[in-house]
Amino acid sequence: MSNAVHANDADLRSDRRVTTAALRAAVAWTRRDSEAYAWRELSRMTGVVSHVLGPGRGPAGPLDLVRFLQGPLSELLPGADVPDALGNLVLLDRSGELTDGAVEVGCEYTEALFEAVDDPAQQWLPSWAWQRAEQVQRAVFDRLISSGNTQDYTVSRRFLIEHPAGDERELVELRNAAGALPVAHYDQIPPDRVYGNHGGTWWWPCPVCRWPMRVNGESVECGYSHHDARFRLDVTEADRTTSPRLVKVSPARLRTPQAREADGARCVDLAVWRFVTVPGVPELELERRLLRVGGVDVRMWPDLDRVDLVARTKSGRKWEIDVKDHADLNTIVNNAPAARDVVVPDYRRAQVRPLARALPDKRVWAVSSFVRHVRKQTGEASA
Ligand SMILES: [Zn+2]
Repeated sequence: MSNAVHANDADLRSDRRVTTAALRAAVAWTRRDSEAYAWRELSRMTGVVSHVLGPGRGPAGPLDLVRFLQGPLSELLPGADVPDALGNLVLLDRSGELTDGAVEVGCEYTEALFEAVDDPAQQWLPSWAWQRAEQVQRAVFDRLISSGNTQDYTVSRRFLIEHPAGDERELVELRNAAGALPVAHYDQIPPDRVYGNHGGTWWWPCPVCRWPMRVNGESVECGYSHHDARFRLDVTEADRTTSPRLVKVSPARLRTPQAREADGARCVDLAVWRFVTVPGVPELELERRLLRVGGVDVRMWPDLDRVDLVARTKSGRKWEIDVKDHADLNTIVNNAPAARDVVVPDYRRAQVRPLARALPDKRVWAVSSFVRHVRKQTGEASA
């Protein structure tokens, strides 16, 4: 039922609670050696899951929960009608590490399980594991939103999408040149995204989102599966040379990035990448393609993000557009977009029909079909 829209709110809510608890337990498991409170968190999350599922169902204890986390989440979820993206999700791999899917899909479902004062794990759990996307975005842009400066907001938001990683000095120069403000921290490239050889340490930006790709043995991949960025290290060469080379594995039409020195490089953290950079990629792609139509003016995130884009033709036609990149339709339906036109990335075009049915007062498009629609309208207007 991959494109089903949940009919039952109670099912949805308990699925979300179990998913959040499972995700938090998975993160705690990966930090059990370094974080004093990790075991306590695992026990608490086992309690949350047991409470939602009721007596006699669910994990017998924390280690049993960890065993569940290494299989598809559908085995834990109480809802009868679970979307495939969620049901097939595995949070921990065989070596007990967090999967990319945990971040890509799992965090769509995170919600507050406790009041902030009752949630000590907020001190050490990464924000993407317990905050909703809007909360992370709000925290990043809070100062700009309260100052009400639309120009600063737009420029600073665009900067985090276009430059989520790079050489530290270069990033400062680029930010100053763009007139963007330092709204997010840039940290060292995480160790699982760095490769070391005799010549030094190296990282590679994803050709789609420009954030460091994960290095796992010989494979170098972006954690967001829809970017289709999958490469292989040319190890024979990498062992010898100062600048290791990648070979493209994915069939997608992508340029192969050059190795960049990790020494002195910085990137935004996982939460900012996942909740600002990743959703921003299709937003800016749509902007780029609409501008290419000719005679179309585009404004991004007008009035401090009232909608994602406003497009206007010279003849006065106007569209307000929200771009939605979610694995689960319900995430979109439950936070009904403000704009009349709702656009999903082309890789989610299967969502167009069910979304249109669930949001009868909206017009729903994939990026390509929306751009064609605008082109047709401008063509007719100038004819
Ligand atoms: Zn990427």
